[in-house]
Amino acid sequence: MAPPVLIKAPLELQQACLAYRAQGQRIGLVPTMGALHDGHRSLVEAARAENDVVVVSIFVNPAQFAPTDDLDRYPRTPEEDLAMLAEAGADIAFMPEPSAVYLPDADLKISLEALSIRGEGESRPGHFDGVALVVSKLFMLSQAHRAYFGQKDFHQTVLIRRLVKELFWPLEVRVCPTARAADGLALSSRNTYLTATERALAPTLYQGLQNMKALAQAEPGVASGRLRDAFLDTLDDAFELDYIDVVSAEDMRPLEAAWPEHHPVAVAAAYLGQTRLIDNLALYQLP
Ligand code: AMP
Repeated sequence: MAPPVLIKAPLELQQACLAYRAQGQRIGLVPTMGALHDGHRSLVEAARAENDVVVVSIFVNPAQFAPTDDLDRYPRTPEEDLAMLAEAGADIAFMPEPSAVYLPDADLKISLEALSIRGEGESRPGHFDGVALVVSKLFMLSQAHRAYFGQKDFHQTVLIRRLVKELFWPLEVRVCPTARAADGLALSSRNTYLTATERALAPTLYQGLQNMKALAQAEPGVASGRLRDAFLDTLDDAFELDYIDVVSAEDMRPLEAAWPEHHPVAVAAAYLGQTRLIDNLALYQLP
């Protein structure tokens, strides 16, 4: 397939997308930070199936990294990414410079007060403000009818649905299932940081979540503390736990017990050496 058109200038993307809109074309947006893998590919394929024009952004967004995070060493593989996007049938690859996205006199902040400080937001102060800001910019630039996100970053999907709802954004949020390696590890650009030994232990993160789900299915209403214990019994000792919580899928509120009608989701983050891995699993069917 033809390679995607590469656009670097934000307003050039917006003009192109306004022209598509004027012709009645439906636009699908897939925001990414690059180092693309099969999880990203599944989002691009979903966008391809439902839209006339598929825009994929590749932008390692400095605003969502804390000074102590891995911004500088985050993997960047633009050539491989473009080859993959050609295969998956993306029309436009948007790869801006940070200075074009964040003007020198930038003054805008977008914050979801409660959602930004729970769970993943508590561990990563400021992270979700950066996500909300860049996603808002990408929505404005791409003029998308639909935007595609992965269940892998569950908290992010809750935040983005909320952003779209509160700003009355005329856009549908689509959430695609987590793509996993054969042994269950959620695909992630950060998996490339893992040593061979760490990679072999990494699937215990997902196995722990699966054991929580098995317990919740067997005992609806089970206390979250017992679910956490089931997780900790499974997680390899080499991990250093950041958090394991049972939260409501609606607003990420921590739940004391896992009742199906509260739509509990098990969310976990843990370090394996220098690498921070996150994963999640709905304990029952989500609405
Ligand atoms: P990232 O490049 O990590 O910012 O991810 C870009 C998008 O791809 C986000 O919506 C992620 O949730 C999604 N994504 C990342 N990993 C996976 C995966 N393993 N399965 C499905 N979607 C994913």
